Amino acid sequence: MKYISTRGDATPRGFSEILLEGLAPDGGLYLPTHYPQVDDATLTRWRGLPYADLAFEILALYIDDIPVGDLRELARKTYTAEVFGTHEIVPLKALEPGLALEALSNGPTLAFKDMAMQLLGNLFEYELARRGQELNILGATSGDTGSAAEHAMRGKKGVRVFMLSPHGRMSPFQQAQMFSLQDENIHNIAIEGVFDDCQDIVKAVSNDLEFKRHWRIGTVNSINWARLLAQVVYYFAGYIQATKSNDEVVSFTVPSGNFGNICAGHVARMMGLPIEQLVCATNENDVLDEFFRTGTYRVRKGAETHETSSPSMDISKASNFERFIFDLLGRNADRTRQLFKDEIDAHGSFTLSDEEFRRIAEFGFVSGRSTHADRVATIRDTFERSGVVIDTHTADGVKVAREHLKPGTPMIVLETALPVKFAATIVEALGREPERPAAHVGIEALPKRFVVLPVDVARVKALIELECAVD
Ligand SMILES: *Cc1c(COP(=O)(O)O)cnc(C)c1O
Repeated sequence: MKYISTRGDATPRGFSEILLEGLAPDGGLYLPTHYPQVDDATLTRWRGLPYADLAFEILALYIDDIPVGDLRELARKTYTAEVFGTHEIVPLKALEPGLALEALSNGPTLAFKDMAMQLLGNLFEYELARRGQELNILGATSGDTGSAAEHAMRGKKGVRVFMLSPHGRMSPFQQAQMFSLQDENIHNIAIEGVFDDCQDIVKAVSNDLEFKRHWRIGTVNSINWARLLAQVVYYFAGYIQATKSNDEVVSFTVPSGNFGNICAGHVARMMGLPIEQLVCATNENDVLDEFFRTGTYRVRKGAETHETSSPSMDISKASNFERFIFDLLGRNADRTRQLFKDEIDAHGSFTLSDEEFRRIAEFGFVSGRSTHADRVATIRDTFERSGVVIDTHTADGVKVAREHLKPGTPMIVLETALPVKFAATIVEALGREPERPAAHVGIEALPKRFVVLPVDVARVKALIELECAVD
């Protein structure tokens, strides 16, 4: 399998070449040259597999430059009951007939990002050892991504993580999840500023190409193809659990921000998984809902981006969206570049032609949006009906899923985080604290390991140089 860019760079690259990369050199996103088709006999065979082996089968369709035995080992080492809490790894929980949650949030940081990030940690360690290289991952986080990355990369050989977060602005629980890690290769840097300051520092460091090359700076953001690929697996696992035979169809609802999670559902559907609808749920930051309703994709400005009670969906633009549009446009890279580069640079938005817009239905996408009041009502209603406490992001999903239920088609809502991470809204909805998994009791009291730095690119660079020189 080779990978190409959505903006026309057709240099064929292997999986291992793009594993440690972000954007393609022409500014596009990497996609495989084609989607391998999963036939009826294969899907039937997959029904009997443990999650790790299902993951291996799917990964092997897209990765041909890691020996098969090694790849199987990497999958088995990643998806264990010990790390993800159950043997099913992603069990379905029925809410009511025809509506279920798929539990993706029982990994180390209690959000679905662990599903992909844990695999990425093992893949990075493997590939860096094979090349005899090191990598310094530099990132900015306001919570979920940073902690998933740190928990995936802790103790991994050849990898250091430098994670910037806004000093004093994360919840005590989120802070504890990151700052309590005592691993030598994890560096928490609390910046005396806001999240945007952290992101600006990361950009400034990455734009210094000389520094970036010399200190081997990399990222683990959501446009990484390996992360997306790892997420394809749980669409298959969800389908297999919800059905008995391959002539049944299901729909998925996905609480969405950067369009990484639901894009993995799109890939699964393109591979032939019988998915009827992919329901894209947004919060008040409804860039994507607006697009699926109108055909206009309008990037929001900073001031237009709402801070909501489902904060991991607070986005101004959806960084993986270009992948879907490329497929929607029949993989026309010129048109994709025109929309995402020329139109967005000039107007901050683009609008599909009528004919392009009509094609969306063939891809199964529909959408909806949810507000804070909807979240609170949905958390309460779901608890009253089913006795299940859901988090705020999952609540956006359940709210929108209910608007797209169809008799005879099971609806699976992806549970993207556990309620304990967003306790304030749970208290608002239910009048009590959410349950906390045993491993997370009292984490706020653990010793913390972090440094505080001002909003100063040079100080961050100096810290990276110092840490690399020490090792
Ligand atoms: C990251 C995240 C999302 C959004 O996922 P995307 O892949 O960015 O669309 C939704 N819910 C939670 C809890 C998240 O952490």
